[in-house]
Amino acid sequence: MLLSIIVPCYNEEQVVALFYQEAIKHILACNMDYEILFVNDGSKDQTLQECLKLKEKDPHIVVVDFSRNFGKEAAMLAGLREAKGDYVVIMDSDLQDPPSLLPQMVNLLNSDTCDSVATYRVNRKGEPLIRSFFARSFYKLINKFTEVEIVDGARDYRMMKRQMVNAIIDLPEYQRFSKGIFTWVGFRSQYLEYENIQRVAGETKWSFFKLVKYAIEGIVAYTTAPLRLATVIGILMSIVGFSFMLFIVIKAIFFGDPVAGYPSMIVVISLIGGIQLLVLGVLGEYLAKTYMETKRRPNYIIKKRYDE
Ligand code: UDP
Ligand code: MG
Repeated sequence: MLLSIIVPCYNEEQVVALFYQEAIKHILACNMDYEILFVNDGSKDQTLQECLKLKEKDPHIVVVDFSRNFGKEAAMLAGLREAKGDYVVIMDSDLQDPPSLLPQMVNLLNSDTCDSVATYRVNRKGEPLIRSFFARSFYKLINKFTEVEIVDGARDYRMMKRQMVNAIIDLPEYQRFSKGIFTWVGFRSQYLEYENIQRVAGETKWSFFKLVKYAIEGIVAYTTAPLRLATVIGILMSIVGFSFMLFIVIKAIFFGDPVAGYPSMIVVISLIGGIQLLVLGVLGEYLAKTYMETKRRPNYIIKKRYDE
């Protein structure tokens, strides 16, 4: 039985060696053959060299080098496609995903009570408060409006059986939101929890705006409810507009029409204008996604695969 460990890395020169040092102990404790796939996602620092140095020491390591930065989603997909394991696990390189859980995950899969073992953080200790607030709201929103159920605080740290991996790589979509895909494909998942851990070194690659973009992608990928928003707002606005029209006509008939009402007119115009732009924006999001899907571009380009 082979265990594949997928590690996406972007500008992680400071942590890959630390990661290996720590993870290998727990990987060996799993009592399986293993391969570690470092996916270098177009790092601008010495990450590739660091990975290759590790590879010299441990021939179980495979390094996949992207031609540029394609993002973590692409790196995970590449890892899943390249992995040959019967069990496949995705882990961050910064040790925020505790490798000590690996043997337990393997045991759970072996016992055949589930097809994948996923993880979530019970708290967001050490994270900026606004970020936690928005993250929580995002999970509420996505669980309310979409058919995929995503556990608040769910990580990409997850060990899966081959069958589930195959189901995931068979999905042809270009816009990939893995947290949704993992639940969308089904199968039995069991969740392990752990406390948030600070990354060992280096910095997070996620700015606030990147997270907002990620959240919008997640929602657009799994529900078309925002499109219906346009219809609902349209109906509401029509009712309001019609009532207002009646009001003005009646007022003009009974009280005449002195030139007034400039402020209310401006308010109405800008309100409707704003809503129209909002709705156009929503339409645009979906149109853009459709456009990108139809291009059928690959999610990533591999420059070189280091293995032998
Ligand atoms: N990562 C990646 N490509 C990117 C951004 C991040 O492969 O464009 C990797 C990164 O090297 C790390 C993992 O994704 O192994 C998680 O990134 P990070 O720790 O910055 O995210 P956070 O833990 O802060 O959510
Ligand atoms: Mg991290």
